[in-house]
Amino acid sequence: MYIYLDNAATTRQHPAVTDVMAKTASEDFFNSSALYPPSVVVKNKIQVAREVILKKLGGNSGDLVFTSGATESNNMVIFGKATKRTRILCLEGEHSSVYAPVKYLKDNGYDITIIPLQSDGRANLGDIRGVYDLVLFGLVNSDTGTIQDAKAIVQSLRRSFPKAHIHCDATQAFCKIPFNVVELDLDSASISGHKICGPKGIGALYLKKGVHLDPIMLGGGQQPIRPGTENNPAVLGFAKAVEVFNTNENFAHVSALHAHLIKSLPQGVTVNGINNNPYITNLQLSGRVLGQTVLNALAIDGILVGLGSACSGSNKSRTLSAMGISDQRAKQVLRISFCPENTAAEVDNFISKLSEILKKF
Ligand code: PMP
Repeated sequence: MYIYLDNAATTRQHPAVTDVMAKTASEDFFNSSALYPPSVVVKNKIQVAREVILKKLGGNSGDLVFTSGATESNNMVIFGKATKRTRILCLEGEHSSVYAPVKYLKDNGYDITIIPLQSDGRANLGDIRGVYDLVLFGLVNSDTGTIQDAKAIVQSLRRSFPKAHIHCDATQAFCKIPFNVVELDLDSASISGHKICGPKGIGALYLKKGVHLDPIMLGGGQQPIRPGTENNPAVLGFAKAVEVFNTNENFAHVSALHAHLIKSLPQGVTVNGINNNPYITNLQLSGRVLGQTVLNALAIDGILVGLGSACSGSNKSRTLSAMGISDQRAKQVLRISFCPENTAAEVDNFISKLSEILKKF
């Protein structure tokens, strides 16, 4: 058995999700666009799933488009909105599924502004003022867990340019940190199933009512801007994951784990960023030891931790660089990310192994 502390990379699927998916695959396998009664049943179940997820987002009046994950959702917004006239703003340290498309557009002559982060991992609101048509920011940073002040970011933008399309990558926040897409006045938001004990390969894009995007794929008419036969098991599994994820209870449990982790850290280990989110903690190691070396040593004992966003592979974290952390120090980090299944005993085990390993360096 592993001690799994890399839940920002992905989570173990909840058994209730697996049950729904198996049942759907064998009983509700029909194409939701076919015209006989069992297909209508499937279509209705997909609509119920959509409403469950929309309700959790607080976006009852908006629409929800199912996608293959948050990577696709982010790309849909960026390529569905960008024209040569679109002025785009994004934060340095965004997830690669936002940063890479934006960088691609920048390299192709589009008008892109990428703003740095403060040393605590948050955006400086003073940098955000300006005239933009499309603004992209992550609510929770996947490397440091830092929660951006979304309300302040949106309000400051709306003051100078009320018509900007404001997109939030809420992948690491959804279900974990309470937020409401309508109260925040977002035009769109990306979410993903596998970060909340749901299935992989399913995500969604929330769209405020009346917001238009050009489709990035053309095909059938299942979902107006996202063609392709719906993945019934994954859609229904995603909604089940949302139903069983108890935001308040889980937040309280994970907050206690986080507090325990922080108070038990071995000497010389500190935390990067403001760390205002108990789910993700970025640990800075001292001396010369590399995060990768410690990760490998922990894995021998079955303790699995991350270095940062799994999507960056072995590349150094842009987030840490944007916070002013040197390349050398950025290689000396571990990312610990919790899920509701984790226990205090697992944290103790991690801390005692970490202390043992660090003593050798
Ligand atoms: N945005 C953020 C902040 C993420 O952490 C991730 C997953 N690492 C994604 C987007 C991409 O999500 P998916 O794996 O569903 O494509």
